[in-house]
Amino acid sequence: MSIVSEFKEFAVKGNVVDMAVGIIIGGAFGTIVKSLVEDVIMPPIGLAMGGVDFSALQVVLKDASTNDAGEAVAAVAIKYGVFLNNVLSFLIVAFAVFMLVKSINKLKKKEVAAPPADPTTKECSACFSTIHIKATRCPNCTTELKAA
Ligand SMILES: [Zn+2]
Repeated sequence: MSIVSEFKEFAVKGNVVDMAVGIIIGGAFGTIVKSLVEDVIMPPIGLAMGGVDFSALQVVLKDASTNDAGEAVAAVAIKYGVFLNNVLSFLIVAFAVFMLVKSINKLKKKEVAAPPADPTTKECSACFSTIHIKATRCPNCTTELKAA
């Protein structure tokens, strides 16, 4: 089998398309949640806490400086504000996925819980044709049957 046809089979047969859709939607969803946290949720919280910009919260370990050669050296800092934003983003995504899985499981459970339909036919004991469940005489071979 050539590599091309092998790849074609892989791409068409497997869940590659489903997977690709999931990854693309997931990526877009992640961007939306990130924006929701950074642009919608955190600014009012920061304002309520006295005008704190969460993405700017950091502990500076070493100030920005210039080295002996005159080149700028970036400050070393623990950016826990950005980290908090990302943690909140993750919690929102995790909660959304949890709700999704929960509702899917609920639907699945409903499907399983549906009782199997009562049989409406039976097999004639003499000619083995399928006849109505309440028949006392087979319409095909006229054998008298015990009521089921
Ligand atoms: Zn019969």
